[in-house]
Amino acid sequence: MNTRSISFRLVAWYAGWLAVIFLLLCALLYLDLRHFLEGDLRDSQLRRAHQIGDALLAHVKQSGEPYVASQVKDWYEPEVNDRFIRLTRADGTLVYASGMPHDGSFDPAQISAPPPSKTESFSKLALPGNKNILIASLNYKSPGNPDYLVEFGQLLDPVDTMLDHLLLQLILGLPLAVIIITAGGYLLVQRALKPVEQITRAAERITQHNLSDRLPIAQTGDEMERLSVSLNRMIARLDDAFQHSKRFVADASHELRTPLTILRGELENMAEDTRVDGEVRERAASMLEEAVHLSKIVEQLFTLSRLDAGEAQAEWTRFDLSELAKTTADQLSLLAEDKGISIVCDASQPMPVEGDRVRLKQVVVNLLDNAIKYTPEKGSIKLRVHGVNGHVMLEVEDNGIGIPPDALPYVFERFYRVDQMRTDGSESAGLGLSIVKSICAAHGAEVEANSVPGQGSCFCVRLPLSKN
Ligand code: ADP
Repeated sequence: MNTRSISFRLVAWYAGWLAVIFLLLCALLYLDLRHFLEGDLRDSQLRRAHQIGDALLAHVKQSGEPYVASQVKDWYEPEVNDRFIRLTRADGTLVYASGMPHDGSFDPAQISAPPPSKTESFSKLALPGNKNILIASLNYKSPGNPDYLVEFGQLLDPVDTMLDHLLLQLILGLPLAVIIITAGGYLLVQRALKPVEQITRAAERITQHNLSDRLPIAQTGDEMERLSVSLNRMIARLDDAFQHSKRFVADASHELRTPLTILRGELENMAEDTRVDGEVRERAASMLEEAVHLSKIVEQLFTLSRLDAGEAQAEWTRFDLSELAKTTADQLSLLAEDKGISIVCDASQPMPVEGDRVRLKQVVVNLLDNAIKYTPEKGSIKLRVHGVNGHVMLEVEDNGIGIPPDALPYVFERFYRVDQMRTDGSESAGLGLSIVKSICAAHGAEVEANSVPGQGSCFCVRLPLSKN
């Protein structure tokens, strides 16, 4: 589980606060109920103490103390009802004290007299056996009668039992409630964040080649919908800008072709015109060289822009890549021989592929051309075509100067050249390998380069084998 994810942090925060709030509410409920129940018990005991005073002690002169005692016993039956009642004179002598309750839950003799206090007071005494008794004491005064202390007490057992039961329910119910609500919250958060996952996956798939794709719009009417709409608008703007720059390169290279062809023609004529002064002819020849180089760059840019635009597949045919590799190697062997380089071609098995034959030939030409360019005299080049797991591998390996490891990741980038290797700077523009890569991409193929500086390089193209 990712503890840094939004859903985890949100749910953890939510569950934490929920637990704290529930705990506080439960504590408040428990204390409030205890306060209410005990208060109720106090009121009822005090009421009964007043009852004894008003109904019996107010007439004690006429009725006598023994009558009061017997009436109290008859009315309240303290032993049967587990109550404690005691009547004491002002000098502390006893008028009446209830006996041991029938269930023996407490011993009245153990209950000491309360300290002298105001008219009404309450005390809570702890008894053996984890019991508590609540006693209301009333100093009863009535005109023309002696003063008496009336004590009326009752065990707190029912209140304690009820509160203990409630506490148990809260202890069990609270974590359960937190778990259920948190699980519900987790599911809700997961559902709310699902569009984020979908948007992320869709965004990962969008590259410069499929900028026309859009992110899924979560029709939720919330921030997610707004976010996906805004991101889609941003992708549309990027797509526009990208298309604009691609069109610009395509238009520019297209527009440059005709004037460059005319320029080359004129320079060729001037370089060959015997009527022109020798030095001027030399300059024209040198300018012609630059114009040829410029035309080559413009042609390459034009090729790249057509590949970027996704050339129509009308030119696609099924042909044998081994045969194409062999004929191309033959054609370039003349160039290689100039440097005393041998090209060994190992392409004996027919390897049918589907694609644009002219473009795939260009791949072989560019790779072989580089191998010849960057291999010193008397070097050797191996061209291999073989099948591996439903794919054709075309490998061009040389024992030339190689490519430094830090430059290797960039060799397929446009206009990238490894400086130290610019053996014939005028002819290199750093576009050959980017054309190879674009052609491979258009054919669903992959190309990779491996190289050891000083020992050689190997370029490997992996094309799908034609199934028919
Ligand atoms: P260029 O037209 O400059 O050859 P490429 O795109 O074909 O442009 O190659 C880019 C760079 O990769 C070259 O400048 C060169 O330094 C390096 N490179 C390509 N192929 C080889 C090779 N077979 N051996 C050594 N370096 C190579």
